[in-house]
Amino acid sequence: MSAKIISGTEIAKQIREELKQEVAELKAKHGVVPGLVTILVGENPASVSYVTAKQRTAHDLGFHSVQDTQPEDISEEDLLALIEKYNNDPDIHGILVQLPLPRQIDESKVLYAISPDKDVDGFHPVNVGKMVIGERCFLPCTPHGILEMLIRSGVETSGAEVVVVGRSNIVGKPIANLMLQKRDGGNATVTICHTRTKDTAFHTKRADILIVAAGRPKVITADMVKDGVVVIDVGVNRIGQTPEGKAILCGDVDFDAIKEKAAAITPVPGGVGPMTITMLMKNTVQAAKQFAGLA
Ligand code: NAP
Repeated sequence: MSAKIISGTEIAKQIREELKQEVAELKAKHGVVPGLVTILVGENPASVSYVTAKQRTAHDLGFHSVQDTQPEDISEEDLLALIEKYNNDPDIHGILVQLPLPRQIDESKVLYAISPDKDVDGFHPVNVGKMVIGERCFLPCTPHGILEMLIRSGVETSGAEVVVVGRSNIVGKPIANLMLQKRDGGNATVTICHTRTKDTAFHTKRADILIVAAGRPKVITADMVKDGVVVIDVGVNRIGQTPEGKAILCGDVDFDAIKEKAAAITPVPGGVGPMTITMLMKNTVQAAKQFAGLA
C-alpha cells in the first residue's frame, strides 16, 4: 500500500487564503496592516532567496513589508541599533533577522535584542520559555508548521508514540516539546534521538509518528520504520543539480521505499518547507492583532 502524501504546499495554500482574508478584514474594520521587516546581512545566495520568498509572501498577503539589507561588515553595535529602531516602529509588528550572521556578530545577542512582542520567528528565550510551560506565545515556525500539518491532516497525536530524530533548537527540541503539551496536536509520548543515541532504529521502529530533522540525506531507511507510520521529513539536502543548474533536493528519509510502508508521509520538496514561511506570516498577523489590542 502506498502512503497518503501530506502536501505542505496544499495546506500552506489553504492557510494563506485564510490569512489573506484575515488581513483584509483587519484593514477594513480596524485600519490595521500587519508589518514585517526582514533584515538581511550580506549577500549569501541562500539567505537572499529565503528573504525574497518571505517578502513575496508578505506582499501577496497584503502586509506592509520592508526588506532591509545591510553590508556584510556591519558592526554588532549598528545591527543592534537597527533592531532597536524597528522595536520602536509602530508600523512594524514582526522582525526577522535572516540567519546565519557574519562572524563579527554574536547571533544570540541579536536574537535576544528583538522585542519578544515582535519575535515572529519564536527564537527569543521569553517565547521559548512560554512555549515550554504551555503559555500563549510565538511558536517557532517550522515546528508550528509541522503541528498544523498533523492537525489539518487528521493525524491522531493523543497517546501516540512520537519519535523525533534531531535535537536542534529550531526544530528537534521545540517540536518534541509541542507534541508533549496538553493541547491539540499534542498529548503524545515523545522520544528524541541524536548522534549519541545508542540504537536509533530501535526507537524509530516503535514510532507511530516519526519526525526527522537530522540534515542527513536518506538517513532513515525503510527497515527502520514500522508499517502504518506517519512520517514528517523536515530535512532539506542538496544532492546535486540539474543540467539547468537547479538544485536537486532530498529529505532525511528514503521517501520511495518508506512510502510503501507508511500510512502518510511528507515529500521533499513540497512538505514542511512551504509551511515554515506560512507560519511566519501567521505569527506576524498575530503580532499585529496583539499590538492593536485585538487578540
Ligand atoms: P542541525 O542543527 O544540524 O541538527 C541536526 C540534528 O540531527 C542534531 O541534533 C544531530 O545530533 C541529529 N543527527 C544528525 N545525524 C543523525 C543521525 N544519523 N542519527 C540521529 N540523529 C542525528 O539541523 P536543523 O537545523 O535541525 O535542521 C535539520 C534539517 O532540517 C536540515 O536538513 C535543514 O535544512 C532542515 N530544515 C528545514 C526547514 C524547513 O522549513 N523545511 C527548517 C529548518 C530546518 P547531535 O545534536 O548529536 O549533533
